[in-house]
Amino acid sequence: MEDPPKIVSHARKKQRDYSGSQKAADALLMIALIAIAATYIGSRWSIDDSMPEKVIDSAEVDLYLIPRGAYTSADIIANGSQTASEKFKAFQAKHDFKPKVGDAICPITRTKANPACSWIIGGNEYLFCCPPCIDEFLLVAKSNPTSIKKPSFYLQGSK
Ligand SMILES: [Zn+2]
Repeated sequence: MEDPPKIVSHARKKQRDYSGSQKAADALLMIALIAIAATYIGSRWSIDDSMPEKVIDSAEVDLYLIPRGAYTSADIIANGSQTASEKFKAFQAKHDFKPKVGDAICPITRTKANPACSWIIGGNEYLFCCPPCIDEFLLVAKSNPTSIKKPSFYLQGSK
C-alpha cells in the first residue's frame, strides 16, 4: 500500500515540469510575435515619416550651424539656424549663363544670381544661383575667410 502513491506523485511532478516548460515556450512565442509586430509597425512608421524630408547629414549641420572664419553666430541666427537645403527645400534652380552688365552673379558659378537664393555671411547678404553653391562658398568663407570679397564684388562686369 506504500508504493502506488509514490508513482502517482512522481508522475504528477513530471506533469508539472512539462506544463512549466510549455508555459515558458508559449511566453517566448508571444514575445517573438510582439517583437515581429513591433518591427513591422516601426518600419511602416519610419517609412511614412521620413520619405518627404531630406536627411540632413552631420557634415551639413557642422557647416551651417557652427561658426568659423567669416561665418559668425549672428549669421547663423540671421539665416534662421538652419541649413541651406532646409531653407530652400522647394527651390528650383534655373541657371542663366548670360548675366547682363551690373547683374548680381553667383560667386561660385558666375552665372546670374537668384535674389531668392541668398545667405548671410559675415553680416553681408550674398546671392547665389542654387543652394549647393551656398555650401561651396560657405566652406571657403569658413576655411579661408580672406579669399572672399564683399557682395558688391560679385557683379557682372562689362565684357
Ligand atoms: Zn549654383
